Amino acid sequence: MEKLDIVLYPDAGLRETCAPIPEMNDTLDKLIDEMLYTMYDAPGIGLAAPQVAVQQRLIVMDVSEKGDQPIVLMNPEIVQSAGSLCWEEGCLSMPGVYATIKRPSEIVVRGMNRDGKPIEFEADELLAVCIQHEIDHLDGKMFIDHLSRLKRTRAIQQFRKLMEQKES
Ligand code: ZN
Repeated sequence: MEKLDIVLYPDAGLRETCAPIPEMNDTLDKLIDEMLYTMYDAPGIGLAAPQVAVQQRLIVMDVSEKGDQPIVLMNPEIVQSAGSLCWEEGCLSMPGVYATIKRPSEIVVRGMNRDGKPIEFEADELLAVCIQHEIDHLDGKMFIDHLSRLKRTRAIQQFRKLMEQKES
């Protein structure tokens, strides 16, 4: 299995709106396997296609404790949302940076599963947070965009520092 390179902030590819996926095919099937492999290896609980330089509306996630319950969603869409919660989020495209983000706590999401079939389900807590974070990526949005300007600037500075330390 090939591990994919994860695109890091501030890559321009993370700011693009991704294209809808017309239907399932073998290329996508292989990409899904590689994305899951890359996500588990990172390790992370969610990965969106633009994070591996593919500008298509595909996200993979696994919020289970054992990491044995992968969720694959194409063309995901939030059709209902309610409540709110604050969660400390991180992102594989901005490793080492964490920020508390406020989002709806309960959502209903719709999309296409790995079999190419339409699905719709409810999610709350961490899964709801994860789905919203990953869908944001498909619209060129990062978690830090939800922060105030001051907090966002701090998060970016922190990430730059971490990257400099890594290089030296
Ligand atoms: Zn992310």
